[in-house]
Amino acid sequence: MSMSTTDVVRYRGRFAPSPTGPLHLGSLTTALASYLDAQYNQGQWLLRLEDIDPPREVDGAADSIIKCLASHGLQSNIATIWQHNNWQRYRDTCQQLISAGQAFYCECPRRQQDELGRCTSGCYKKNLGARNNNLRAALPLTDLNFIDRVYGLVETPKRTFDNAIIWRRDDLPAYLLAVVVDDVDSKVTDIVRGDDLLHETQRQLALYALLEQRPPRFAHIPVVLNEEGKKLSKQTGATGLDNTQALENLQRAIQHLGLELGAQLPSDNPQSLIARAIQHWRLPEPRLQKGQSIIN
Ligand SMILES: [Zn+2]
Repeated sequence: MSMSTTDVVRYRGRFAPSPTGPLHLGSLTTALASYLDAQYNQGQWLLRLEDIDPPREVDGAADSIIKCLASHGLQSNIATIWQHNNWQRYRDTCQQLISAGQAFYCECPRRQQDELGRCTSGCYKKNLGARNNNLRAALPLTDLNFIDRVYGLVETPKRTFDNAIIWRRDDLPAYLLAVVVDDVDSKVTDIVRGDDLLHETQRQLALYALLEQRPPRFAHIPVVLNEEGKKLSKQTGATGLDNTQALENLQRAIQHLGLELGAQLPSDNPQSLIARAIQHWRLPEPRLQKGQSIIN
């Protein structure tokens, strides 16, 4: 495939929350890190709302996230992407993989899948239809070691993703499919996100390989933990951010990222604080040990 020079994007990052609740300190920290990395690299940054799982979504959450980011000085001049608009692209990609013999329907109920969630009864030989079945991609079993900008060399763990679900039996696209298709379509070059997703990366790289697409660079930053050492999330009791406290919230996120901005200025506002954070930006140190993963 030839690309004209106007198609070449040197750096494009993104923040991609699911509208399952308001932003909290953990999600703000991730959003800020991806924003600072993009600005530091004179790149672009976009916002994508991952609204493809209606049972988990909360009314009004998407608008509240957009408003919250704007209050904290995190805005993009690229139009916000809504995954629900991309449904047909996800379907077309599945169809393309099915036609190429690279995806198959699987009837295994959860109790019949193995401990890694894989098909156990050779469904790829059965020629099953879509109804009530998961669609699985036959991901390539190649070496998927990669260099993370924070963690360095990440080696392929034992094979856990050779027939990953890309379309769910409840007729919804799987996260794996949607995230890869959208990052490809929006020409995202750099993904800065929480290290709870470090071990999702190889499955995504396998799908990039299957779709014959060039993968982005990754930087996995330590997620904010609660007092019990669990990832800060709505499920672990994180509270939504108060937009009237944007400066304080940003200061906490900057502190979590380990950035030293010097003394606080009386004239600081979210925009000026972010401008200084861009100047002082560097990726944080890794936290996880080899083979360790964050328990959500
Ligand atoms: Zn099966």
